[in-house]
Amino acid sequence: MNSVQVFEKLAEYRYEQIVFCHDKATGLRAIIAIHDTTLGPALGGCRMYPYASEDEAIVDVLRLARGMTYKAATSGLNLGGGKSVIIGDPQEKSEELLRSFGRYIETLGGRYIVAEDVGTSTEDMEHIRIETSHVVGVDVTHGGSGDPAPFTALGVLHGVRACAEEVFGSASLEGRTVAVQGLGHVGYRLCELLHEEGANLIFCDLNPEVVERAVRDFGAKHVEPDEILSIPCDILAPCALGAIVNDESLPNFRSSIIAGSANNILLEARHGESLAERGILYAPDYVINAGGLINVADELEGYNKARATKRVARIYDSMKKIIAISKRDGVSTNVAADTLALERLDAISSIERLHTGHPYGLERRRRETL
Ligand code: NAD
Repeated sequence: MNSVQVFEKLAEYRYEQIVFCHDKATGLRAIIAIHDTTLGPALGGCRMYPYASEDEAIVDVLRLARGMTYKAATSGLNLGGGKSVIIGDPQEKSEELLRSFGRYIETLGGRYIVAEDVGTSTEDMEHIRIETSHVVGVDVTHGGSGDPAPFTALGVLHGVRACAEEVFGSASLEGRTVAVQGLGHVGYRLCELLHEEGANLIFCDLNPEVVERAVRDFGAKHVEPDEILSIPCDILAPCALGAIVNDESLPNFRSSIIAGSANNILLEARHGESLAERGILYAPDYVINAGGLINVADELEGYNKARATKRVARIYDSMKKIIAISKRDGVSTNVAADTLALERLDAISSIERLHTGHPYGLERRRRETL
């Protein structure tokens, strides 16, 4: 990709800024993308991955940064969307590489706040934190918010409840059959929550040990991984892989609701329309899997678990709003989610611009140049 194409990409989706970070001494090659800061500083994880090419890294960071704008906006957070990538093998991370990256983050003066993501960890955030305070997802001993997965699972539960209310006339999950694909950090916790709610569980995982444990814990039924998507159930909760809704799988779904934590559940946006045509209510992934983001963002105010838990519950309201927009506009829920985000961005950006008397404001700068 040459620079003209980068600018075309930035213009197409109105990115604010892209920063290329290079440090010869540490071998750092990183890219920070800030999509939109209408609502606040851009918060998003740092992914470390041995990208095959710089083009691949640019495309990935831009796509992910834009996704964060929508996620933060629909979650009611006062945050914008951004993301960063470090090009390289996570096995080859070093303190100096991360600190070098931290210095670049510091130069942005808080416009971008970093968090952990695929290939980075809490320990890495501790190294970055030496150089900048614009970091969340730090160790609990330093005011961190801990593992995001339980909050992601809780958010999914709230989203599922909102969907159940729409489809079955009651948000109660007692007696509902829920099929959970993937018993990882989020999926297992979701099963625990659903079990407490009195739901009937069906689940699968590639790891037989975790399946055995779940059978013991929940006394529930497991199926083979290739059966889960077509199992008759009230709610299908994909918590493992993306792109599970595609042309091939579409005719086989036998659930009334699809709502899970996995990212990019729809292979393409048009598959959201196909689900609606089949009468299946789809909970947009970036809306109902935002519990982890809501939790980690709470660190910015001095982490408070009770407050974060309360905020995660708002995913129920977001899902209700999306259902309402979907009916109002006659569009699928994935399109309605984007509308909810854009409406909030429009509303906030249209507030009257008032001079606040800030000493470094425009007027003072004007006076100084006269
Ligand atoms: P994880 O790696 O802990 O768990 C994934 C589980 O899925 C593993 O147990 C794995 O064996 C299983 N799995 C993989 N392929 C499978 C298949 N074909 N059939 C059945 N099981 C399969 O991941 P996680 O943290 O629980 O996240 C789950 C999903 O939710 C991912 O898509 C992730 O991107 C997304 N997500 C997670 C969070 C979070 O807070 N962890 C936040 C937002 C989104």
